[in-house]
Amino acid sequence: MHVPFNDLVLHHASLQPALNQAIAKTVAESSFIRGPEVDAFEKEFATLHGVKHCVSCANGTDALYIAMRALGLKPGEEVITTAHSWISTSETITQAGGSVVFCDTDADTFTVDPQQIEGKITSRTRGVIPVHLYGQAADMDPILEIARRHNLWVIEDCAQAHLATYKGRTVGTFGDVATYSFYPGKNLGAIGDAGGILTNRDDLASWMTMFARHGGKGDHLIEGMNSRMDGIQGAVLRVKLPHLQNWTERRRQVAQHYNELLAGVGDLRLPQVAEGRDHVYHLYVVRTKQRDALRAHLKGRGIETVLNYPRALPFYPAYSYLDHKPEEFPNAFENQSRILSLPIYPEMQVEKIRYVAESIRSFYGQ
Ligand SMILES: *Cc1c(COP(=O)(O)O)cnc(C)c1O
Repeated sequence: MHVPFNDLVLHHASLQPALNQAIAKTVAESSFIRGPEVDAFEKEFATLHGVKHCVSCANGTDALYIAMRALGLKPGEEVITTAHSWISTSETITQAGGSVVFCDTDADTFTVDPQQIEGKITSRTRGVIPVHLYGQAADMDPILEIARRHNLWVIEDCAQAHLATYKGRTVGTFGDVATYSFYPGKNLGAIGDAGGILTNRDDLASWMTMFARHGGKGDHLIEGMNSRMDGIQGAVLRVKLPHLQNWTERRRQVAQHYNELLAGVGDLRLPQVAEGRDHVYHLYVVRTKQRDALRAHLKGRGIETVLNYPRALPFYPAYSYLDHKPEEFPNAFENQSRILSLPIYPEMQVEKIRYVAESIRSFYGQ
């Protein structure tokens, strides 16, 4: 049996007629950059979250960059973020002129440890970017409390956590700004690059709209950038958005299945979901001391796995200039040699889930 890590062919199969129609309509109308479908998607995505504004853009990385520019980040100012994320979260801090300050994760959830944030704050700190990693919300209450006390802004990186909740409230509604990626493999994906930014603040929404469209259409009030959503991506996202809740439930069912079949197997540590949070399982990430051997065993049985990510951010060559030591980020450092992402996608068949679980059990001789 072959088990892909994700199956976008299967994911789009049942939507094919609707997708084709949406694409054909966009071509017929020649609304290639932004246009009515993108406008409608922005409204629908904002409404779904109960947030006033959604500013669409070209991808989730631009979303972070645009948000930081809107919040007025200046050279030399510091932004605190997690040591465990995709590099978009930190590279955009530098692009926006700021200095990256990494913070370790907690031992259980792979999200930033709020206890560690306060010790990283200096007179130059301007903001915090928690990441709802793998689909589980970061611990927002203490993060927001610290931010309020130190007058810092908060950007939620929601790229992996569409519709995840924290104490019953949907992520993307906590910070000053929340950023989304609609990269094809994300829980809500376009058929190319696309991104979005949520905010309740009118001033930020209008500045970001202007900045992402060359500083204003017709009248360039400032120098901006070109970060626009394609009309086709807006049309496709509108076809897919009504299915997001259902897909999220299916991801949870796959995860529940894995949880039952893998409980107590070898030294495996299954995903831990903290009290008051739920998980939308963009990724299902287990931990084991025998990670590389398990991965090779699964590959031999036709099962694709991924490392998200091969290293914690402070230990990539890109950040060698910060000269960080493993003991500064003990959890993130340990996890980089333990984590393994198993296949998960909404359409994953029960036989495949069972086959992955059996293959893992056989690795441990169980
Ligand atoms: C995917 C991702 C991004 C960036 O999104 P792109 O659309 O690929 O630019 C940012 N942050 C996190 C945590 C991500 O997983």
